[in-house]
Amino acid sequence: MIHVPEPLPDELAAGHLGRVYTINGISKKDRVSCTIHKLVGDESRAYSETLASLAGLSFAHYLFHHTLLPFYRAVQVAESKKWGVFNENLVARTVAHRANPLGAMICPLCIDEDVSFWGFSYWRRSHQLPGIYTCQKHQIALLRTSWSSPMKLLPQESLEKAEALSPELHISAIENPTIRRYGEICQEFLCRERSISTTQMVSCLQQRARRLQVRSRAGVIGLHLHDMARRQASGEWLTAHFPDIEKKGSSSSLCRTYTSQKIAYATTYYALALALLYDSADDAFSDLEAYRELNLAINIQSSPQPIHWEPATENSGRLQRALSEFLRGMPVDQACSQHGTERHALEQVLRVATKHALENRI
Ligand SMILES: [Zn+2]
Repeated sequence: MIHVPEPLPDELAAGHLGRVYTINGISKKDRVSCTIHKLVGDESRAYSETLASLAGLSFAHYLFHHTLLPFYRAVQVAESKKWGVFNENLVARTVAHRANPLGAMICPLCIDEDVSFWGFSYWRRSHQLPGIYTCQKHQIALLRTSWSSPMKLLPQESLEKAEALSPELHISAIENPTIRRYGEICQEFLCRERSISTTQMVSCLQQRARRLQVRSRAGVIGLHLHDMARRQASGEWLTAHFPDIEKKGSSSSLCRTYTSQKIAYATTYYALALALLYDSADDAFSDLEAYRELNLAINIQSSPQPIHWEPATENSGRLQRALSEFLRGMPVDQACSQHGTERHALEQVLRVATKHALENRI
């Protein structure tokens, strides 16, 4: 009987599988994804699904907390969706276990802390996000190991052969404010329970770009997003993670993030666009949230029939109802008190709506 411990906070699925192999005495050469299927006699599922059921967790919960899938599906075409509203089996197989070809990353200080607390160390999912080279907790550069390490070794066993980043990458990961902001934005995307719609993203990026006088649509002359990327983050980091910015310039996916509502590009491009246009991750996500409310409000106003909506949280449901009453003519204070929402939250949405209307008129 195979022993499967519960995954630890932020533990990467591949690392959890590696730990299961270590605990059960599986030899290093057999520490590959298909071994778990042979051990349990079921080869029809993704290894993460097998691990989730052996650990007594739902597959959706396991994918959300132990794979990079929430990051890869953070921006979606059409409306914003709650986690779990998708074909789990299909996406889990195609995206969730994508190994990072640039290697698996470890933080030596996390390893020290883990070993003194748990007696062993484990692979963290948040260290494996594409383009992330610092530990958010310790603010130091990560070390690179082979991409297959998580299934074969514990982090403390990989430390000896781990490689330091190149001096250039090390400096830019630690010091470049745009790259640091990109990292914070990626971490936020990873933890969101609700996807961001391309409509919400495009409205937000376009208005922000217009405000900063960055070229926001075809035919408008001026600085473009790819120019900003080259100015703020050129070098090894940009070439490794966004090679098409150098090759394609204004036709790169980065410059399409604020025009295309019909296609969702890789999350990394949205994270970079937000990092270039905003001074902080908090400002970027607060604007994105306001645009979600605004898009809902516009839909309500233009819909001849009362529409059914599914609020993201209890708070945002109350806010949407208060906003709806206000738009039908009720005074702000009355709408807020009737629906139990904070006045400042409603004011923030109204501020964005007014800004949007004024900028469009100009
Ligand atoms: Zn750390």
